[in-house]
Amino acid sequence: MTGGTPAGGLPARSRGVIALLEENCTVCMLCARECPDWCIYIESHTEPVPGAEYGGDDPARAPAGRGRQRVRNVLDRFAIDFSLYMYCGICIEACPYDALFWSPEFSYAETDIAALTHEQGRLREWMWTVPPPPPQDEGATPPGGGADGGHPRPNGS
Ligand code: SF4
Ligand code: SF4
Repeated sequence: MTGGTPAGGLPARSRGVIALLEENCTVCMLCARECPDWCIYIESHTEPVPGAEYGGDDPARAPAGRGRQRVRNVLDRFAIDFSLYMYCGICIEACPYDALFWSPEFSYAETDIAALTHEQGRLREWMWTVPPPPPQDEGATPPGGGADGGHPRPNGS
């Protein structure tokens, strides 16, 4: 892959890198499991959910610790190795939480193969290059009511 946009621009729905909207990621691991190339690396840990201690608000359960502590997954690492990647899009389709998006960016060649593994921060930055979804049918209410159809943006707009 080389730099530069083809004359006439990129075709609609071009597939380049994958962008990560990390605040939507619940660390469910579906994308990593479904990726045929095993090129998605995810690391996480669990943390107790504040306000959901043993027994929660139920005084009958709390003293005896009979309720189960609720925990949530916290993402420590999300990376994609673009040296293995094959543009299939299965991870995007598998993600139930809209955390992965196609970016048309194709100009990410490196001279060091290790640099083709994009870590979480860089995958997040690709969100700025994700185009808005195609327009809905005439008269349809845009999801989220946003001017661009409610497409999630890194700045939350
Ligand atoms: S596009 Fe395909 S090969 Fe690339 S990370 Fe997603 S599932 Fe894996
Ligand atoms: S499938 Fe989506 S929510 Fe689940 S780990 Fe992958 S990116 Fe995160």
